[in-house]
Amino acid sequence: MRLLLAQLSQQLNSLRSRVQAGGGLPVSPGPPAPVPVSEEDLLSLPTRVFAKPPLSGGGAALEGGKPAGSSATASPGQAGADAAGPLGPSAGGASTASSSAFVCSICLEEAEEGVVLVTLPCLHQFHDACVKPWIVRQGRHAACPLCKTPVFV
Ligand SMILES: [Zn+2]
Ligand SMILES: [Zn+2]
Repeated sequence: MRLLLAQLSQQLNSLRSRVQAGGGLPVSPGPPAPVPVSEEDLLSLPTRVFAKPPLSGGGAALEGGKPAGSSATASPGQAGADAAGPLGPSAGGASTASSSAFVCSICLEEAEEGVVLVTLPCLHQFHDACVKPWIVRQGRHAACPLCKTPVFV
């Protein structure tokens, strides 16, 4: 009986050694891919929730959004001003009237109340949902889409 067990364990041992030998396949290096960005890297970027300063009206903003006519009928005068200076001093800020407006330079959309923005080391800000896929695509060598400042130093 003991002999049988000994033989069995021997067989097991030889099996194990075979498995170990077979498992030693060389790890394929693969093409030089961009260094992946870890979740920690992304989380290390400062974020903030965009909040427009309360309007003078107060509760009106909470009720039904903007008052009728403010956004639907864009004044032609404002459009003319934009066309005159496409590269104004405030890059990203389209309108001169409301300095609180934030425009994401990736999607060119104005930030909505409550949306999460990411601030890069260069202090440029983008939508969280816009800049993080960009960073992931670029890897750890990602740079600011605007000024090419490295995101991770
Ligand atoms: Zn965006
Ligand atoms: Zn930048």
